[in-house]
Amino acid sequence: MKWLAKILKKGSIIHTQYPPVFFTNTLSGRKEVFVPQKPGIVLLYSCGPTVYARTHIGNLRTFVFADTIARTLAAAGYRVHRVINITDVGHLVGDGDFGEDKVAVSAAREHLTPETIANRYTKLFLEDLDDLSVDTSDIQFPRATKYIKEQIALAKTLEEKGLAYRLADGLYFDTEKFPGYGKLGGLSSEELEAGARVRVVKGKRHPADFVLWRTAKPNDLQQWNSPWGRGNPGWHIECSAMVRALLGQEIDIHTGGEDLAHIHHNNEIAQSESVGGRTFVHYWMHSAFLTMRGEKASKSLGNVVYLSDIVEKGFHPLSLRYFFFQAQYRTPLSFSWDALAGAAGALDRLWKISRVIARESKRKSAASAVRDQFLATMRDDLATPQALGILWSVLKSEEYAPEEKWGLLEDAQAHLGLSLLNPPQQSNPLEEKDVPKEIWDLLTRREAARASKDFKKADHIRNAIEHSGYRVDDGPDGPVLTQETL
Ligand code: AMP
Ligand code: ZN
Repeated sequence: MKWLAKILKKGSIIHTQYPPVFFTNTLSGRKEVFVPQKPGIVLLYSCGPTVYARTHIGNLRTFVFADTIARTLAAAGYRVHRVINITDVGHLVGDGDFGEDKVAVSAAREHLTPETIANRYTKLFLEDLDDLSVDTSDIQFPRATKYIKEQIALAKTLEEKGLAYRLADGLYFDTEKFPGYGKLGGLSSEELEAGARVRVVKGKRHPADFVLWRTAKPNDLQQWNSPWGRGNPGWHIECSAMVRALLGQEIDIHTGGEDLAHIHHNNEIAQSESVGGRTFVHYWMHSAFLTMRGEKASKSLGNVVYLSDIVEKGFHPLSLRYFFFQAQYRTPLSFSWDALAGAAGALDRLWKISRVIARESKRKSAASAVRDQFLATMRDDLATPQALGILWSVLKSEEYAPEEKWGLLEDAQAHLGLSLLNPPQQSNPLEEKDVPKEIWDLLTRREAARASKDFKKADHIRNAIEHSGYRVDDGPDGPVLTQETL
């Protein structure tokens, strides 16, 4: 559906062929209609992972969220240019200006170079994105260590403009020289208070001032020459430098988890707008946390689950993607294995229904009002729980023709990326309650045969299971029973 919308922005009327899409902008705290700077083109930057360890499912929530923004805008007709940076230097343990570099700590612990550590976790991160149906072929993934020159140049310009000052341990941004520092809000007095998040550095003029370039300690594994001597970049400068190098001085959307808004993103704004003299980012979008028993999932708290854990338990990785969509991105989402199993079961049922509809519709789609309703729901700040609700109610209803249902599945696939048009062969593990008793009995007898090393009997029972329309695979935690596809 393409229709002409007249959208009022900054007092002028902009004609656009694109349907209206609404996003909550952290800058205003409100839902706003999305209007890109250049017609038809979206510049989208996402703060990427710090590659000192595997990305956990909390991190992955923010990347699926950014992917959903990109899909929704692409489906609305925009060309989306995307960058996700890879932080391989500069992010310190504790997230402030003190302490060791996370990648260096990990490298020292494993007796490897920072580069080897960064390569290893970048590769795993990209594999996780692939498994979650994030199309990485169109995304640029720059690494902070490859943009040192650009970071130095930016810091130098800030110094020349009188916005930075030198201390023994580095070059600092002078936040009081940047009017409007903290536009994204959230900088509570406690956060700024000495001794809390930001420890006092001798000579620091204001607790909010932050490091642009750190003087190297003799044993720093990653250090470079700079106008301020040997050193390494502060954490915030990398994003300002890479946005500028790859997307330009002014971009449309910048994303991250909600923990990044107050410090990291306020600091990015201060750096970039001081140099560019114009709005750095028009729409700041932040996703809420994934929590584990009420607490933020985080590597430092040690309460994390990885996508590999999910797959090892026999779930399809897209079960996690479906699970994410059960909450709108601004709502905290509590992870539990039961909740994941519920999502996996629902996705399995969707895949089964999709196979039936593919046959009945011969993969031909027809327009219907409910498809427009689905699109409008996704364009309303990515209201995924409601969008899934529409999908389910239509697929279960007798009132729609198979072609209308197929059309809706096409829309749902474009926006949600759940492999709805070509469901995978591997499905989610079935439990005792999901299958007839005789099938479960067969499974139990096969396990007993395997335990007593009677593999002939075990194979025989496997055949019987397969003849009944089920399939058994042997995973690391035992057998995984799934239903054969229709
Ligand atoms: P990091 O690897 O720590 O630099 O984080 C990468 C991204 O994951 C950032 O956008 C964080 O805000 C985000 N993030 C970290 N923990 C969580 C969580 N528990 N839930 C959602 N997003 C998170
Ligand atoms: Zn960033």
